[in-house]
Amino acid sequence: MTPTGHSRRRGGGKFTLVCMAAIILAVAIQRDVIVLKHWVPERYLPWAPLHLEDPPGLVTRWKLSRLDQNPEACRAFLENEVPRRVTSLPDSITDSGCDLINSVRVHDRSTDGVRFNKSFIASCPLAVSWLRFERHGLQAAAQEVLGSRVTGVTHLGSYACRNIYGRENARRSEHATADALDVAGFRLSDGREIRLPADWTAAGAQDSAGQFLRAVQQAACESFGTVLGPDYNAAHRDHFHLGTRGWSVCR
Ligand SMILES: [Zn+2]
Repeated sequence: MTPTGHSRRRGGGKFTLVCMAAIILAVAIQRDVIVLKHWVPERYLPWAPLHLEDPPGLVTRWKLSRLDQNPEACRAFLENEVPRRVTSLPDSITDSGCDLINSVRVHDRSTDGVRFNKSFIASCPLAVSWLRFERHGLQAAAQEVLGSRVTGVTHLGSYACRNIYGRENARRSEHATADALDVAGFRLSDGREIRLPADWTAAGAQDSAGQFLRAVQQAACESFGTVLGPDYNAAHRDHFHLGTRGWSVCR
């Protein structure tokens, strides 16, 4: 037998061993002989439920993207984590492509979150994305850049039965199914108000309000599928569009 034949047989043996080990490991996990969550924090397990406190990362982002196809898991998140901040809405099926399915009303005021200028309708995934963004992104940006907390948020609306940019021959907007929220300004606990477009400044500018808005947009990109701001186009000069569809669209 040639040396090449020997090494090929050794390589094949190793491959079989690795396969057998993988199968034994999979069976042990499946039968709870090895309980993974005893060894790995739950937030790193793709099949474990998403929690408000789970820090942003690839796994939490993947879990967020899956909530769209898993209405029960999405609803369970809101009921378990933030029961006082939202109220469930009945489904509304239309023939205009503007269905509201598994939607909630996010209240304008709550004891454990920011106050909005008015309540708004949100698809369940949008509500979850906002609440996680508020908890991990928005408050962290305010603390880091301004040394303060965000207490109020001004939005321009979430649900609107229309196409993108209101064009006749375009596809339906994320707003047509309450999958996006347009945010225009923030009130801080020290009384400051920071708004688009007035406080938006060039990238790298030294003013703290402008730096805060850029930090907010950057943080939003980690919680939402689509984030569009003043640098994108004139239609977004006065707000951030925060939408759940897409993956890492951040402009
Ligand atoms: Zn929008």
